[in-house]
Amino acid sequence: MRIFNLTTLRTAASRCLVCLLIPALALAPAWGQPVGAPSLGPASAVDLSPALERRLGEAIMVDGRRDPAYISDPDISQYLNAMGRRMAANAPGGAPEIEIFGVRDPVLNAFAMPGGFIGVNTGLIVGTAAESELAGVVAHEISHVTQRHIARGLTQQTKSSHLLLATLAAAVAAALIPGAGNLAAGAAAFGQAAVMEQQLGFSRDAEQEADRMGFEILRKSEYDPNGMAQMFGQLAKAANLNEGAGGGIYVSTHPLSIQRMSDMQNRIRQLPPASYRESDEYWFVRAKSRVIQATDPKALRQAVDQMQEETRTTDTGSAATIRRSAAWFGISYAALERRDLKEANRALQRAEAGSPPSPYLDVQRIDIALAARDYARALTDSQAGIKRWPGRRSFVLRQAQALQALGKDKEAIAFLQEQTKRWMGSEPVLFQMLAKSQERVGETVVARQTMATYYSMMGMLPAALAQLTQARTLTQDFYIQSQLDVEIRSIRARIDEDRRLLERFKS
Ligand SMILES: [Zn+2]
Repeated sequence: MRIFNLTTLRTAASRCLVCLLIPALALAPAWGQPVGAPSLGPASAVDLSPALERRLGEAIMVDGRRDPAYISDPDISQYLNAMGRRMAANAPGGAPEIEIFGVRDPVLNAFAMPGGFIGVNTGLIVGTAAESELAGVVAHEISHVTQRHIARGLTQQTKSSHLLLATLAAAVAAALIPGAGNLAAGAAAFGQAAVMEQQLGFSRDAEQEADRMGFEILRKSEYDPNGMAQMFGQLAKAANLNEGAGGGIYVSTHPLSIQRMSDMQNRIRQLPPASYRESDEYWFVRAKSRVIQATDPKALRQAVDQMQEETRTTDTGSAATIRRSAAWFGISYAALERRDLKEANRALQRAEAGSPPSPYLDVQRIDIALAARDYARALTDSQAGIKRWPGRRSFVLRQAQALQALGKDKEAIAFLQEQTKRWMGSEPVLFQMLAKSQERVGETVVARQTMATYYSMMGMLPAALAQLTQARTLTQDFYIQSQLDVEIRSIRARIDEDRRLLERFKS
């Protein structure tokens, strides 16, 4: 049962530029409800505590993370989350728990979901002309989280809030179906387009509050507050281009964006002069996003043309050098997508020429080696990358990949055991890779326990339970059996907790 579909979200999200919110959830009935999905009690009966809101968000993400539009690239994810957490730390009232992910979608938009999950479209990243513009939008979304606008919207007694709650409950219910996550996506019935009209939009007051607070967060995080004003200008322009003067988006958001832009400009005028943060990394993430969102050969060619154009800039200075290097990197990345290793190498050399060292260039060099099946080279370069850029998960993943490709599973196990301890919550894929090597060396029981950890981290509890139950049948060792029993009980307890949560949605 497919509950959450990022592709659908694109259509709905484009209706409210940078305002967000859970648009896809409004499609509730169109998605079909899983068997046994709860009917909905009065919204006031639901106490939407932060923990409960988080659980609902996680349930949506169980499906969301497997959506083709979801970007699992560790560099993009690490970049967005580092930016988001830096800003969240400056939110009034303490840092909210947030998780930011990239969405493969050319529409200029970002959105907040229940529980602090924030999606940022590649179209937004590509559409910005400076890091502060991107940070401005992220700061706005963080403010929706901090101010609990979603929970506030959901507990209002409106028809759309009831629909949204029903959908959220359905997402939790779907995550509890045995085999969830192993089944191919069910055919979703998208017939009821009219339901989209009933989206739960944030009120104008909520938007203004998020603008004001986002502005403060942006400033305190040392990003240029002009970025936010420029972004609203961009949004007004994009709405204009997308829809034309008679279109719905233009009419509904254009005056608002202009108003928001001048509000920002007024605030900026009152600030003392300061120097601002601007990272090199932004340009590499932007180039990568441009390629990632090009899903067919024609779009990929256009993306490459655009980046060729950027390499031809005659600007001088260190900022221009970075932008040129990032554009060459993007061209190399696109060539690798097409498996054109010669062009990937050539463009990478251009990117490296005269540019300061960058982890993006080093990762690209390793990916070219992996594609050329030069695993020995990929291994040495990954090891060097981990030393040179400590704290970057992309090198860890590549080292494990190279070890496995070389058949060095024992080494891979030792390495991954150490790295899973280090990265625990942030890279579940490491557990999946560890299980693969454990399976290969015949550690079948442990392999299933590791897979159970992976599924549990992904929120796929029934799948985790199935792995543990299977492992239980594969061993006669009393000590391991009782260890498994403990793990099985803990997963069952979590499933029961979700069931109880569902009960609360029933009248
Ligand atoms: Zn908003």
